Amino acid sequence: MSTFQELGLNDDLLHAITDLGFEKPSEVQEKAIPILLNSETDLVALAQTGTGKTAAFGFPMLEKIDVNSRTTQGLILSPTRELCLQITNEMKQYGKYCKGLNVVAIYGGSSITDQAREVKRGAQIIVATPGRMKDMISRRLVDISKIQYSVLDEADEMLNMGFKEDITDILSHTPEDKSTWLFSATMPREVARIAKKFMDNPQEITVGNKNESTSNVSHEYYLVNSRDRYQALKRLADANPDIFSVVFCRTKRDTQKVAENLIEDGYSAGALHGDLSQNQRDLVMQSFRKNQIQMLVATDVAARGIDVDDITHVINYQLPDEIETYTHRSGRTGRAGKTGVSMVIVSKSEVRKIKSIERIIKREFEKKDIPDGMEICEVQLMSLANKIHNTEVNHEIDQYLTSINEMFEETSKEELIKKFFSVEFTRFFNYYQKSKNLNVAEGSRDGGREGGRAFGGNSNSTRYFINVGEKDGFDWMKLKDFLKDQLQLGRDDVFKVEVKDSFSFFNTENETKEKVLAHFTDFKHEGRFVNVEVSENRGGGRRNDRRGGGGRRDDKRGGGRRSDDRRGGSGNRSDRRRGSDSGSKPRRSDSDSSGGNFSRPRRSRR
Ligand code: AMP
Repeated sequence: MSTFQELGLNDDLLHAITDLGFEKPSEVQEKAIPILLNSETDLVALAQTGTGKTAAFGFPMLEKIDVNSRTTQGLILSPTRELCLQITNEMKQYGKYCKGLNVVAIYGGSSITDQAREVKRGAQIIVATPGRMKDMISRRLVDISKIQYSVLDEADEMLNMGFKEDITDILSHTPEDKSTWLFSATMPREVARIAKKFMDNPQEITVGNKNESTSNVSHEYYLVNSRDRYQALKRLADANPDIFSVVFCRTKRDTQKVAENLIEDGYSAGALHGDLSQNQRDLVMQSFRKNQIQMLVATDVAARGIDVDDITHVINYQLPDEIETYTHRSGRTGRAGKTGVSMVIVSKSEVRKIKSIERIIKREFEKKDIPDGMEICEVQLMSLANKIHNTEVNHEIDQYLTSINEMFEETSKEELIKKFFSVEFTRFFNYYQKSKNLNVAEGSRDGGREGGRAFGGNSNSTRYFINVGEKDGFDWMKLKDFLKDQLQLGRDDVFKVEVKDSFSFFNTENETKEKVLAHFTDFKHEGRFVNVEVSENRGGGRRNDRRGGGGRRDDKRGGGRRSDDRRGGSGNRSDRRRGSDSGSKPRRSDSDSSGGNFSRPRRSRR
């Protein structure tokens, strides 16, 4: 293992490295820095975020540019505004003893004139998001015709976000003979294509294996019924009192809902997704950075710019559609030499995805059980005891001690301790004492969705009627795709699709019922109203569907009348839904969800 000195960095950089407290180079730095310092070469580096890659390209770039010139010599492209700002900040810190250095960030959502003014003052290095960069080039507010070094950071993310054309356009304004350094966590075909197109015989380095997860992260999965997903999430949080986590959901709507539920249930949580304004997102991120939020619930896209090093847990509330995305998610923890845990809550139908992810990340998952109520009570109690043990006495209390002491004159130390801890313990105990076991045994058929798919179905899935069928050009595959796209669900989340002549049936798990019905409220497809309602035929395949009378339904299709019916009936509609819920499903007795919605003890905030 080399030292930064041995890698050949100059004194200004070594001085800054000492200030930053970096003791030794990380793997990607050890591999990349000597190559980039000692040759003018293109480079493809496969490295996850959090491995120290900014310094891996940052140190050589800072060493190689001429700070006495005001010409822009280095361009770093990054996928998000957050990452762009993070890189700029890091570069400024690394180069703080390089006199005359000016690093400028260019990103959307902020004044373009201010950014242009900064560039005009002479920016040797520009860190930019592709969209704003392209804009500034077309307005001739930047000149990148003389750059010598370009970095494509998180190249896979930039391509995922649709920046391919922007990147191509931007690079067409740069000199042919510059060096290009591409950093990517994964190497999908698109990235390989970009590397081939823009680079000349690049050297390659890999930190870990391609797509592989860092060894600092352990991977765990928890098998539960889909309907218990939210309870499971809360238990995982309660079992880890000092959790500082990102909780990933698949859709913006789920993200918002899970965050809202958590907040309502007393957790310090926040939502981060694309339907929030930039300002709202900034505020959430600010609170998260300051550790004021313990659980940041996020979509994959919104989480791309999260630049926080001490995340203890990543929780996959739902698995991503593209399993490759798991690498990015789990890479949010275990950064900067710390360890982290990536947890996945899965239902039975998703277990096989765990195997696929294991193949990709080349690491094994540990199957763990959702802790039971008493385990959580114990963890909370011991955490409180620890906290008290480590608390420094605040002597402002002294003035009140006389009366407090009087109150406890007759109480022994043992009794006092018991009473003191009972305040907290009883809260959790009352909440959890009747809680059920949320774990599902692997291979069992009860409870999981598999059971729901059997003929006749069970209470875990909901069957719907939809007023489109073969006449509308659907077969079961097309309808499944249509529903999956509309509802932003995974391929396996819509099942038992049965297409009839002019109407059809399909199932989803109960937890998506509200979402399905809300989505298809006053919903028009190709100019006509598409209506979805809960069917009383729970299994499908039988001919006694209430909606299965065919003709009657068919008569009602399309047109304005339908719309009137729908609007006029919206109240009834929800009544009907409630009615069918209570009629066909057993009432939940899980104490996790008792007390109205999700009553739970308030947690102590950080
Ligand atoms: P990055 O992968 O560039 O986002 O870096 C992740 C974090 O690791 C940043 O906060 C860096 O400041 C930190 N870091 C980078 N290199 C080192 C190092 N050699 N030792 C300790 N921390 C580092």
